[in-house]
Amino acid sequence: MRKKVVAGNWKMYKDKSETIELISGLKEKLSKFNSEVEVIICPPFTSIEIAKELLKGSVIHLGAQNMHFEDEGAFTGEISAKMLKSFGVEYVILGHSERRSIFREDDKMINKKVLKAVSVGLKPIFCIGETLEERENNKTFDVIARQLTEGLSSISNEHLNEIIVAYEPVWAIGTGKTATPSQAEEVHKYLRKLIEEKFGRSFAESMRILYGGSVKPDNAKELFSQPNIDGGLIGGACLKADSFYDVINSAV
Ligand code: PEP
Repeated sequence: MRKKVVAGNWKMYKDKSETIELISGLKEKLSKFNSEVEVIICPPFTSIEIAKELLKGSVIHLGAQNMHFEDEGAFTGEISAKMLKSFGVEYVILGHSERRSIFREDDKMINKKVLKAVSVGLKPIFCIGETLEERENNKTFDVIARQLTEGLSSISNEHLNEIIVAYEPVWAIGTGKTATPSQAEEVHKYLRKLIEEKFGRSFAESMRILYGGSVKPDNAKELFSQPNIDGGLIGGACLKADSFYDVINSAV
């Protein structure tokens, strides 16, 4: 049985006091939660240190939203995997569609990031997904197969266990348009088959594949109850304790 995961991507939201407020609210809501769902929050870099402090003793895990693939160097404005690790970060979102489209990250760069992350002990939440144009041109399976193959190229079996895949159709992110449970399940099923072909049956059975794209309290339960959907990567709905908690509860 795969343990369900609900991860919150805060994006570029929440300053210091808002971080304290949101984490306090979540901790209170989750105080009696018996961790049958793995809960992860990914605040901005500026909130990582305070988040780590506030999350002590809580069931909530800490992730970051990005990192550079080098350990250190003249890369103004960047943060390395090693730096994140030194602050007690456990997960890192890599390959998010906003990084791919706005910051021009390609599969090759994302692969370097994935390999660097696992080499220092960070667990990637590795995002893939097609654009609306790609879907309309029947390219969905080709695109996600390419993203998965190239993004996870050269990864060792030892590290494969640490990867969480997030399928996020770009047309559903922040748009209010959600893939229907059957549309999402169709892609998740295909992905699990692809993982089996590439890495073998036991990895395919154990790897968590999350759905992301306008998941909200009112659509989460149906999505999360599909056989190949192991939880969600949540944007907008993770910014309030109430709605994030309701999404988490939909995975129970
Ligand atoms: C995301 O940013 O990964 C995401 C899924 O956002 P939203 O839930 O707002 O669509």
